[in-house]
Amino acid sequence: KVRARGVRKSYGNLEVLKGIDLTVEQGEVLCLIGPSGSGKSTFLRCVNHLEAIDAGRLWVGDTTVGYEQRGTKLYELTDKEICRQRTEVGMVFQHFNLFPHMTVLDNLMEAPLRVLRHPKREVRERALELLEQVGLAEKAMSYPRSLSGGQQQRVAIARALCMQPGLMLFDEPTSALDPELVGDVLAVMRNLAHTGMTMIVVTHEIGFARDVADRVAFFDGGQIVEVGPAAQVITDPQHPRTKEFLAAVR
Ligand code: ATP
Ligand code: MG
Repeated sequence: KVRARGVRKSYGNLEVLKGIDLTVEQGEVLCLIGPSGSGKSTFLRCVNHLEAIDAGRLWVGDTTVGYEQRGTKLYELTDKEICRQRTEVGMVFQHFNLFPHMTVLDNLMEAPLRVLRHPKREVRERALELLEQVGLAEKAMSYPRSLSGGQQQRVAIARALCMQPGLMLFDEPTSALDPELVGDVLAVMRNLAHTGMTMIVVTHEIGFARDVADRVAFFDGGQIVEVGPAAQVITDPQHPRTKEFLAAVR
């Protein structure tokens, strides 16, 4: 479960998030849509503490992102503690950022071995299962450069899952892909949604948002202009800005 209350973020004089209030329930899939520059990526980065927020509060599960609560006081976490907190959140970007000098299997095993210090046999077994799950079991020993963009993105998803996160964040995972490769990646995400994973997905795939998301939030100018059940926001938007945006992207 993710909770945002009054989250604000500025870069210099530019206020990019102007008080975001949002709750994502355990097992829920939330899609974020909205125009370029509206703050979608910034919000995701704040959830993962890749950016610190200026005001408000963010929770992932029972923990406050970037802070530890003792009694009624909040204490800022050290970098090491932030890294630990981050291991519970998986993130997949537009560009897959796989380790080019490692095989697919080693890409999956690297963080669970080094960061979580899980036993090698267990990690290997989990990694192979995940490759199976994303349809790439036969690519375990291949290097990223020999894979298509869609295959690389599926590896990136499996790599994030190998850390056994409780929450997955996706930032436009298909927008750098050739159109014919998008479907396989969306299918993997759809299957993941069906396993009950809590997911926040920034996407321009309106069909995916309508079919897979439980709820959709429309961002505009650093605010959530409209949020509701996916089918309702997509097929019967209430706010004029949402209507305008959806008419333009369709
Ligand atoms: P897109 O759909 O194009 O990905 P977005 O909704 O994800 O857009 P953000 O990337 O969150 O938008 O950016 C929101 C605003 O913040 C933009 O005006 C952007 O230029 C600005 N911004 C983002 N990151 C930084 C940064 N590190 N330093 C300064 N400005 C930034
Ligand atoms: Mg973005």
